Amino acid sequence: MKQPTGDLELPHEESRPSTAEPRKTKGQVVAERLVGEVGWETETVGLCSCPFQDFHTHVSGRKDCRVHLDGAPNFHCVHESCKEHLAALSQEFRTQLLEVGLGFTCPETSLQSRQAYRRQEQSRQRARKSAPLIQRDYAWTLQKLKLDSPVDVPGAPTGQYQRFLDLFAEDDIVWIGERYSSGIRHLGSFRTASDWRAFEASIANYTCPSTFIPGEYRRSNDCVKQRRYLVVESDKLSRDETCAVFRWLKEACDWGLAAVVDTGGKSLHGWFRSPDEDLEEAKIVLGELGCDTKMFTPSQPVRIPGIMREDGGGMQKLIYFDPAEVNV
Ligand SMILES: [Zn+2]
Repeated sequence: MKQPTGDLELPHEESRPSTAEPRKTKGQVVAERLVGEVGWETETVGLCSCPFQDFHTHVSGRKDCRVHLDGAPNFHCVHESCKEHLAALSQEFRTQLLEVGLGFTCPETSLQSRQAYRRQEQSRQRARKSAPLIQRDYAWTLQKLKLDSPVDVPGAPTGQYQRFLDLFAEDDIVWIGERYSSGIRHLGSFRTASDWRAFEASIANYTCPSTFIPGEYRRSNDCVKQRRYLVVESDKLSRDETCAVFRWLKEACDWGLAAVVDTGGKSLHGWFRSPDEDLEEAKIVLGELGCDTKMFTPSQPVRIPGIMREDGGGMQKLIYFDPAEVNV
């Protein structure tokens, strides 16, 4: 009997029936490693069940979550309650895609931006790991912070307000107003620190840690003359936990803490001398530590001390002041 030769028996490439699933792309494999099985609708978009279903406050479906491999690769779920976790997973997703040699188009795929992205990822991961250590090694309670204030802070509104104005040079244009006091009708919200001193106490609930260009009357970034302070706050951390982050910034990062304001609500505001270093990295790190990154916007309004909150909350109070760290 004649032995069949392999060549004759094997069907040709072209005639092989194509019933098998198309091979998964590298990107698809990475996605499935993170969220389990994905029903791919196209090569770059697929549906899966949300890996953070436990956080959902409404009923979960098997196709709640969408995977995008194009643009800035990410996972997106129809539920709100898993958003934060999914955002962190999306970051991990992009890191892993870079690790298997896949770039993506947003941000750009140039080597430089990929390196920058990788550096940001490293900062993020380092910060995530450091968070509990910061709380342990730099513990600082609110009570202790008050006791540690280098000078006694006056309690009465006038004293609080005058002390607050010490954060600026006398000819700095300081904005004091309500949240939307911006535009020509609100010219009176922009005055020199020395003019503001003529008022007995604050006339409004908000101020800004940056100074403004003389003659400008809009509270916007392009009218900012100088960012004198970076205000750090958190809505997520407890007050004591926020104090620990302040202490870490002060002692480990050498950021000068000039003042702390109790907003009379949930949070504390740490007024740090605007650091010279790269604020992009600081933004990433502080975000990971649970701080509010909208404060990185130079014209962001913040609560001024020495006045009752307008919303029925408590007194907005200066509770810590260090003249040595005033940035003028
Ligand atoms: Zn979800």
